[in-house]
Amino acid sequence: MLSSTTSKAPAKRLFVFDFDWTLIETDSDNWVFEHLCEELYQVQLEAVGKVQWTDLQQRLLGGLFERGISREDIERTLSHIPFAPEMIEALKLMKSQGSELYILSDANTVYIETVLRAYNIDHLFTEVITNPAKFDERGRLNVVRFHGLDKEPHRCPLPCQPNLCKGREIQKLIDSQSWDQVVYMGDSTNDFCPSTRLQSKDVVLARCSLLLEKEIKENPQMVKANVVYWDNARDVLQATKAILGASSSSSSSAASNKSASRTKIPEVLSVMESSDSKIYAQAVKA
Ligand SMILES: [Mg+2]
Ligand SMILES: [Zn+2]
Repeated sequence: MLSSTTSKAPAKRLFVFDFDWTLIETDSDNWVFEHLCEELYQVQLEAVGKVQWTDLQQRLLGGLFERGISREDIERTLSHIPFAPEMIEALKLMKSQGSELYILSDANTVYIETVLRAYNIDHLFTEVITNPAKFDERGRLNVVRFHGLDKEPHRCPLPCQPNLCKGREIQKLIDSQSWDQVVYMGDSTNDFCPSTRLQSKDVVLARCSLLLEKEIKENPQMVKANVVYWDNARDVLQATKAILGASSSSSSSAASNKSASRTKIPEVLSVMESSDSKIYAQAVKA
């Protein structure tokens, strides 16, 4: 047996991320139609709350194909999705410290993998857990529910969509290994269920002023983890350094604060936040 008196093994951490309005500064489903077809984008906006979201995407993607929008058009549009440099720096820092990174999202595999490849960060993630999607030989993109209609309903009592209970999926990851710490980052209503699965040694990174914060504040007894509120990618980078213990003493308090500092919003964020689309996207996916 090796002696371990002089060097301590680094903490084993699991980081799990929502995608839309968490890792990226927009909602990918909205972004695609907003940039490729105004008519279908309007249909999407009008269908909010009336049609199951994944099924709606599948129908609208058929509409894009019928209008001659190609696979290349979709991939090029996705590659321009805003992804803050500080967020990428934070992800690289987590990975460099031996953490495992997963994405848990209600978007789809094609959208997320295309964006990750465009920013050359796909190798950072162990797995992307989301609705499966695939281009067929004609170039029509098909997306299906992660939790299909052929399966028993998940029956989650929390506000999860029928196609995905993120709590159930994060629980599988939590149970798969013995982690020293689990960190979940999200922004919306469907990020509340996974937040309730964490323990007191864990951290929830919740985006400020959005629906996850509202859920946590209305049900504080259900979240045992330390909650850090963040506004922008710079806050996330600061919190990451604190969590990993890699920060200077001046920033090491970020993870223990109940509210992350309100630093100046980087340009890429301030542009997006100047419109109403952020709040609207929350309503769409909630
Ligand atoms: Mg989100
Ligand atoms: Zn759930």
